[in-house]
Amino acid sequence: MRCAWPPCCGQPPDPQRPLARCPFPSPPAFAPPAPAGAGPFLLSINPADGSQAGRVAQARAADVDGAVAHAWQAVRCQPWRGLRLDRRADVLYEIGRLLRAEREPLARLQMADSGKPWKECLHMVDSAAGSFRYYAAVCETLQGEITPARGEYFSMAIAEPFGVIAAITPWNSPIMNEAQKVAPALAAGNAVVLKPSEETPQLALELLRVCHQAGLPQGLLQVLNGSGEEVGAALVRHPGVRMLSFTGGTETGRAIAAVAGQRLIPVGLELGGKSPHIVCADADREAALAGVLSGIFGSAGQSCVAGSRLFVERAIYAEFVAALAQRTRALRVGLPDDPGTQVGPLISWQHRDKVAGYVELGRREGARVLAGGYAPEQGALARGAFYMPTLLDGLPAQARVCQEEIFGPVLVALPFDGEDDLIEQANGTAFGLAAGIWTGSYPRAWRLARALEAGSVWINTYKQSHIATPFGGFKDSGIGREKGLQGLRLYSQNKSIYWGLHTQPLTL
Ligand code: NAD
Repeated sequence: MRCAWPPCCGQPPDPQRPLARCPFPSPPAFAPPAPAGAGPFLLSINPADGSQAGRVAQARAADVDGAVAHAWQAVRCQPWRGLRLDRRADVLYEIGRLLRAEREPLARLQMADSGKPWKECLHMVDSAAGSFRYYAAVCETLQGEITPARGEYFSMAIAEPFGVIAAITPWNSPIMNEAQKVAPALAAGNAVVLKPSEETPQLALELLRVCHQAGLPQGLLQVLNGSGEEVGAALVRHPGVRMLSFTGGTETGRAIAAVAGQRLIPVGLELGGKSPHIVCADADREAALAGVLSGIFGSAGQSCVAGSRLFVERAIYAEFVAALAQRTRALRVGLPDDPGTQVGPLISWQHRDKVAGYVELGRREGARVLAGGYAPEQGALARGAFYMPTLLDGLPAQARVCQEEIFGPVLVALPFDGEDDLIEQANGTAFGLAAGIWTGSYPRAWRLARALEAGSVWINTYKQSHIATPFGGFKDSGIGREKGLQGLRLYSQNKSIYWGLHTQPLTL
């Protein structure tokens, strides 16, 4: 079989050197044209202090064509897709190993790009490395299934890659979200055009460098740093893209799904949430307090699974919420590189204004502000996009602050009376990403876990995450699942092959 892609070499892959780079006009990893010093550039701003964290070449809509063409060239020309799965796995393992070896410099870069506290940045890099290790390990589950001969044929189901897929990611956990798409998509034999968030453009380029260092054939991963409205939208519409994998806000996801619907291509969507965090009267009070605090204020609330609606059983409501308010006020808000920091800045000043706007809206709707509710105006924090951890109560469950994703350090508390009332309130939003339950009763935990409309439910814990366990949302929180084996199958399509063993010609 010869490579038929016009700009390519026209040679068959060399079976003796399956991982060697194509010796002919090798498809380069795409970099949008940017003569030295001339731009256009995309600036990354450190939200902790407003300094410039980095500068990368900015792609424009016109660059999408080149990136997709290079990706197809790599798919057709490189032996990746036809490579024995254990050899594919070797490269993925090596990417994971290199990410782990470089965890500190990568975490530092992520801290500057996103303002996330140091410990969280280390965790993101470890998680990215874990994705590559896991998908290396399960790569061979793509072997397919054979149905033994039945009559005069046997049949088999095999997993085929789509070819070129587009991955579009948000800013809140850059390298982790990027790896969660790139690792399984490559494991399934695809090429990936990755468009990271314009707020955090640097980590994807580092991932690209590490992939090449590990031996990933050139061209299979392309990175386009540009705006969503221009470059993201052009990528989604591009006829060469055969599958879309998106993580981000629900409204963006809806727009992308509409294009995918028109184009009849599959789409994986990991979207927003407004997750209920439930504390029953029989819960371990100390454990629940700690869980609720970290569930919402970790990552300054900029987490899709943030437990942003707190439901407390009425018998303990006043006491629990008072203790929570006290602990919320005691949280250490600080610079990301300070080891004592528990809550860092938001991603940008614009986002901080949006969060502050929601708190003002809550005040107008009659909320009591039990903690926070302002941006620090003095000291080192005044230079960054900080907002104090905020606890509101006194609002009805239908208030906008209780219904819409704020994506910041804002928790609304609501009382509940009995399980029916709880389930009605907890399921009463458009979202369905996650939920948490604190209770001492196993039967109650099970009943609630089954009744909640959520893709992930945590019982007496919160925000735990394992790469082998699928993740995704019900309702407006998404379509499809990432992670686990489902996350690998998302990036492949089934082909059924029937093989005739006829001794007689087929008859009508
Ligand atoms: P966003 O939707 O604004 O942007 C996400 C990505 O989409 C960015 O790369 C952006 O440039 C791109 N984009 C924007 N408009 C586009 C368009 N019209 N066409 C194509 N691409 C476009 O989201 P964000 O503010 O970066 O991230 C925050 C959101 O992400 C929150 O809602 C959060 O809940 C969600 N999120 C979900 C998960 C999950 O796994 N469910 C994980 C992390 C974040």
